[in-house]
Amino acid sequence: MKVALVTGSSRGIGAATAKMLAKAGYKVAVNYKSNDAAAEDVVKCIIGFGGEAKSFRADISSPEEVGQMFADIANAFGEVDVLVNNAGISHIGLLQDMSDEEILSLTQVNLLGAIYCSKEAIKPMIAKKEGVIINISSMWGEVGASCEVVYSACKAGLIGFTKALAKEVGPSGIRVNCVSPGVINTDMNRELNDEAIDALCQETPLLRIGTPEDVARTVAFLASDEADFVTGQIFSVNGGII
Ligand code: NAP
Repeated sequence: MKVALVTGSSRGIGAATAKMLAKAGYKVAVNYKSNDAAAEDVVKCIIGFGGEAKSFRADISSPEEVGQMFADIANAFGEVDVLVNNAGISHIGLLQDMSDEEILSLTQVNLLGAIYCSKEAIKPMIAKKEGVIINISSMWGEVGASCEVVYSACKAGLIGFTKALAKEVGPSGIRVNCVSPGVINTDMNRELNDEAIDALCQETPLLRIGTPEDVARTVAFLASDEADFVTGQIFSVNGGII
């Protein structure tokens, strides 16, 4: 049974992805930072439908905690075969109003976290000559968002990271791809009121915002052997909004 690690899978897109990969037959490591109860709910749900899962608390912005998490997963489940770099945080506000700490923490979680996790994941993948990494970027990484400048820069960075790492580890049999969601109905957008959601739906050719499952299905495809010849690519899941 292959092992999948989904960072930030206690809620939202990560939780839907963890459940979908478990249904596809992976043992799933559910990573989270602070919400123990939400992570346990995801694990219980997976075990409830006959899947295998365990929660692993680690702050992905800390290389030490990331290293410990990979060691713990290897002990519990075996080495990670599929890494989904999903954990992320948003910050809305003008760049000029952001503190240095806010800029650093946003970058550490949204960009460096994926890099730290990928660095740990590829060591055994290179030895096995097999593995899959999927980075969750954002449409703002493709087109840029005012008032989300650092977030956009990190998400654009993930796109560059995907393309470069795919070239570096492709000869070792590792595929690296990126999914770039549009507006998805999760806690990250909870401050949007009904009026703002309606306006976004009207702007979207498919006339709705996305669900976590919309994104999870694309991740599950990229993780699977169906995507055997796909690497270094960016898949936009956004209803056509950009
Ligand atoms: P969400 O509902 O806010 O969930 C975020 C998840 O990340 C939670 O599981 C959270 O854990 C975890 N997390 C946050 N910081 C972490 C850290 N330092 N270490 C480990 N885990 C951490 O987010 P979402 O909307 O599902 O977004 C998932 C990904 O999709 C993010 O990368 C986001 O940027 C991207 N995205 C989202 C949208 C959207 O519209 N929602 C659009 C484009 C891209 P806790 O529960 O413990 O806090």
